[in-house]
Amino acid sequence: MADTSASHWADLAAEKIIREKGDKPRYVCASGITPSGTVHIGNFREIISVDLVARALRDRGRAVRFIYSWDDYDVFRKVPENMPNREALAKYLRQPITTVPDPRTIEAPVTADSNYARANEKELEALLPAVGIEPEYLYQAARYCASAYAEGIRRALEKKEPIREILNDHRTEPLPAQWLPVSVFCTRCNHDETTVTHWDGEWTLSYRCGNCENSESLDLRSTGAAKLPWRVDWPMRWSFEGVDFEPAGKDHHSEGGSFDTAKRIVSAVYGGEPPVTFQYDFIGVKGLGGKISSSHGEVISLRDVLEIYQPEVTRYLFAGTRPNAEFAISFDLDVIKNYEDYDRTERVYFGLEEVDEKRREKERRIYELSQVRAVPEKPPKQVPFRHLSMLLQIQLGDVDGVVAQLSGEDASSLDRLRTRAACAWSWITKHAPADFRFSLRDPGAPAEPFEDGQKVAMRLLRARVERLETFDEKALANELYAIASEAGIDSKELFKAAYRVLIGAERGPRLATFLLTVGKERLLALLAPYLA
Ligand SMILES: [Zn+2]
Repeated sequence: MADTSASHWADLAAEKIIREKGDKPRYVCASGITPSGTVHIGNFREIISVDLVARALRDRGRAVRFIYSWDDYDVFRKVPENMPNREALAKYLRQPITTVPDPRTIEAPVTADSNYARANEKELEALLPAVGIEPEYLYQAARYCASAYAEGIRRALEKKEPIREILNDHRTEPLPAQWLPVSVFCTRCNHDETTVTHWDGEWTLSYRCGNCENSESLDLRSTGAAKLPWRVDWPMRWSFEGVDFEPAGKDHHSEGGSFDTAKRIVSAVYGGEPPVTFQYDFIGVKGLGGKISSSHGEVISLRDVLEIYQPEVTRYLFAGTRPNAEFAISFDLDVIKNYEDYDRTERVYFGLEEVDEKRREKERRIYELSQVRAVPEKPPKQVPFRHLSMLLQIQLGDVDGVVAQLSGEDASSLDRLRTRAACAWSWITKHAPADFRFSLRDPGAPAEPFEDGQKVAMRLLRARVERLETFDEKALANELYAIASEAGIDSKELFKAAYRVLIGAERGPRLATFLLTVGKERLLALLAPYLA
C-alpha cells in the first residue's frame, strides 16, 4: 500500500469523505459533463481530480466505484466553432445531442454508437486509459430512454412546490405557479420546444410540441422522452447512485449555483445527502504555436496535451497543483521546466536528490499519484527533455534512432523514453519558440566570411574537437573561453561564429552542451573549411 501519511490534497479529501460518509463497504466518486463539444482540458481537470481522490481512498484500503456520467440527453444548443460541417449540424439544434449526427460522418445514419455525443465521448474514452484513468461510464440518454428514472421524475413532480421555492430563492424572475420540473423531447420531431400541458398526479404526462404541433400523453414508466431539468437531474442522480464525492467547477459552485440548489433539493425531495465536494478552478493554456487552432478550433483537449507531455508528466501537472488554484498548461519553453520539475521529483522519490523531510514526503506522494500504473521498482533512466529536443533536431526527428542510441535500458524505461522522445519532437515541430529550433548546416557549405580573429577561433576550436576523446561539458565550456582569448576576440564573437558554422544563426542552444550532442564526427565535418 502506498504511503498515505502525507497531507496531499487528494489524501485530505479522501479522509474527509471517510469521516463524513462513515465506514462504508464502497465509496461512490462521481464526475461528468455534457459532451456538447470536444472535451477540453478544463473538463479533464475534474476527471483527474476524482481519479486522484479515488486513488487516495483505495490507498487506504477502501473500495471505490468511480462513475463518469455522460450527460448526453442534453439539448444541442449551439454548434461549436471547431466542428466540421457546421451548417449541416445547425439543422439539428434543439434536439438531444444523441440524435445529432457525428459531424465527421454527417451523412451516416444516427445510431447509438454513431452520433454527435458519442463522437465526443469516444475521443476521451480512447485517451483516458493512457493516463491511467478507467471510470465506469454512465450514458444518461440511454438511462432516460430506458425509463430508469421514472420514479425520480415522478418524485420531482410530486415535490414541485418545494423545488420551485428552492430555485426561486436564486432567481430574479420567479418560476410561474404552473411550472413543472420536467421537459419533454417531442417523440415525432425530437425537438425540446414542447410545453407540458398536464400531469395526472401519477405516471401520465401530456405535452404539445411547438415545432411540429404534435400532442400526446406519455407514461413515465415506458417513455424515454421526459427529462428532468439540470438542477433537479443532478441531485436525483446523486440519490440514485448514492454519490459520496463529486467536485465541481467554479460555475456550479457559485453562490446560488447548481451545487447549492442541488444540495437542498437532494434532501428536500429525495431524502438524500449531498456528496462531499470541492471546487476546482479553470485551466489556462500558455504559449501555443499556431498549429493547434487549425485542427481543433480554440479547444485544447487531452489529446493536444498528451502530444507534448508524457502521461506521467501530465498527471504530475494536476497532482502537483491544488484543485482550487488556477494554472496554465504551457506549450512554450516552460514545457522544459515542467519536465525538469518532474524529473527532480522522481530523483527525490528514489533518494537520488537530498531535500528536507517535509519536502521529501510531499514530493514522494506527488510522484506516486503521477504514475499511470505502479511506481517503478528502480529509478527509470532520465533523459532530459531539453537534451532530447536537441538530439532529435540533430537527427532530423528520427525518434526511433534517438531512442536506439540511448537504449540498453529495461523495457519500462524504454517505453517512457520513446513516449518522451515522441513528445519532444511534437513540441519542436509544433510549439517550440523559433530561436529554440535549428537545423544543422550541410557539411559541404562554403566557409563563412569571418574576420581574422573568428577564423583563428574556428581553427582552434576544430583542433580542440579533434583532440577530444571523452567529452566533459564543464571542461569544454571553460576551454571555449580560453580559445576566444587565444584568438584575441571577445567570447561573444566566438559563440556567434560557432553558431553560424553549425546552424547558420547567431544564437543557439548552450554551446558546450550543443557541441557534445552534435558529436565529434559531425563537428569535424562542419569545421573542415576552417582547417587552415
Ligand atoms: Zn415535434
